[in-house]
Amino acid sequence: MKGIVKGLGLTFKTMLQKKVTYAYPDVPLELPDRFRGIQHFDPEKCIVCNQCARICPTECITLTGKKNPDPESKMKLVIDTYDINFEICILCDLCTEVCPTEAIVMTNNFELSTYSRDDLFKNMEWLHQNNTNVRKENNAATPKGGAKKDAG
Ligand code: SF4
Ligand code: SF4
Repeated sequence: MKGIVKGLGLTFKTMLQKKVTYAYPDVPLELPDRFRGIQHFDPEKCIVCNQCARICPTECITLTGKKNPDPESKMKLVIDTYDINFEICILCDLCTEVCPTEAIVMTNNFELSTYSRDDLFKNMEWLHQNNTNVRKENNAATPKGGAKKDAG
């Protein structure tokens, strides 16, 4: 009897304590702004300097440029393809740190689980549409809660 009372006492005490669990994934996790999540890429800002690909320790960025169709522009090249292989990206943040134009920036998004490894190759369109939860220091043009990404 004493044991039951003691057990119930502990149960009621625990019931009144603040919850430490989250209702994820129904409720999105609030992550620190310096969290290193999946990158957002803005093709219009990219100057095809290749610094992000060069610094990447896992060589998971591949990009190509093409001749600028605007003959009057100072930029001779514009970005043509930009891919990141998230099988081997370690989200180290180096690519975004070296980018001189903030064409590539970190977001707080982290959900990449998939049934196929092929789905972990993300192209320029996907990275461009991954424009929610951009870090505050980079999100002047793409505010939190912007257009929804179209995962592919
Ligand atoms: S976060 Fe790191 S590993 Fe991932 S693409 Fe950028 S430099 Fe490469
Ligand atoms: S460092 Fe920035 S501007 Fe240069 S190629 Fe990479 S994304 Fe484009």
